[in-house]
Amino acid sequence: MKLFDEAMIMQDEIIRLRRDFHRHPELGFEEVRTAGIVAQQLTALGMEVKTGIAETGVIGIIRGKSDAPVLLLRFDMDALPILEETGAPYASETPGKMHACGHDSHVAVGLSVAKLLAAHKEDLAGTIKFVFQPAEEGGGGAERMVEAGVLDNPKVDYSMGMHVWNDKPVGWFGLNPGPSMAGGHIFSIKLTGKGAHGASPHQGIDPIMAATQIISSLQTITSRNINPLESAVVSVCTVNAGSAFNIIPQEAVLTGTIRTFKPEVFEKVQTRFYEIVENVATAMGCQSEISLTRMTYPVINDPELVSLMTDVVKELVADAKIDAAIQTMGSEDFSFMMQDVPGCFLMVGSANKERGLDYGHHHPKFDIDEASLAPAVAILAEGAIRILESHPNSK
Ligand SMILES: [Zn+2]
Ligand SMILES: [Zn+2]
Repeated sequence: MKLFDEAMIMQDEIIRLRRDFHRHPELGFEEVRTAGIVAQQLTALGMEVKTGIAETGVIGIIRGKSDAPVLLLRFDMDALPILEETGAPYASETPGKMHACGHDSHVAVGLSVAKLLAAHKEDLAGTIKFVFQPAEEGGGGAERMVEAGVLDNPKVDYSMGMHVWNDKPVGWFGLNPGPSMAGGHIFSIKLTGKGAHGASPHQGIDPIMAATQIISSLQTITSRNINPLESAVVSVCTVNAGSAFNIIPQEAVLTGTIRTFKPEVFEKVQTRFYEIVENVATAMGCQSEISLTRMTYPVINDPELVSLMTDVVKELVADAKIDAAIQTMGSEDFSFMMQDVPGCFLMVGSANKERGLDYGHHHPKFDIDEASLAPAVAILAEGAIRILESHPNSK
């Protein structure tokens, strides 16, 4: 029987798994229940299993006919601090926590790919390392797993990951043979002025005024400093200051994110960011403290892996719509696992507009069409077999 048919037979089980994880969402580095189920299932499949990597991460290794090459398959496990509003029978049982990005589906797909490939060990020309990762949502889970040595022992030759994609319908697949997701940085700006009575501004230094000037001026980076044909985003997303209507506060704190694809574009944004924040703050009489840290690298897919995966999707899914031009300023910490080895990040269309399953990622009503999951299992399993067999980029 073909892998695709075997995956389709597993459909009910995949959905049952996904709904169980959906009911029990866990935030980054707290994925204890999820990781426990993952470890138990991988162990039952006869894999070498390691737990507690970067807190709650799990690794399962399955060896085929030979040890090399080694393919890493990564699935993220964390949920978000959102109160679910889907009203689904399998909705979150923990108020304020929700699988609103689809990582519940990723765990279910990952475990199903593991089951499928464990049954086809004899078809594997190398080793597969299943990586179930904590804290993708800004928690730095992938970086921590890489630091913990997830790319070594055995040394990884290729990495592959996936994401359900609710901007696009079931049957759509995003496979861009190059840069597909932006690199992300997180910033925080602390502005210190001098507190005063709201009626006597001349006796103080107003950090709120400095904050507003900085927020406006930062928008000139993308509009005035970056080549309009390049991509960059600078977003201030939190503004915190003040405690009462009649007090000019001592402090204002801004946080936000910068997204870019190219290192040289980021360098330019970074230079202007410091110049604007420091100098506008000084001009307004405030002191500034800036923290700017990398959250993710850009996701840059390997053309050979993408070409192989594109063939697999075309063969397995008759009416697949393959989007080789997909690009988003969204970011993914899977990029840490494809920094040193060729990688491929597959985006799987999961929306169904007719059924109202097309809310965006991180929305309280986010839900997917589960018909997207079994084909994703088949594609990843078949892709894994072929990557190990053909060992692309090795000549
Ligand atoms: Zn997300
Ligand atoms: Zn996500």
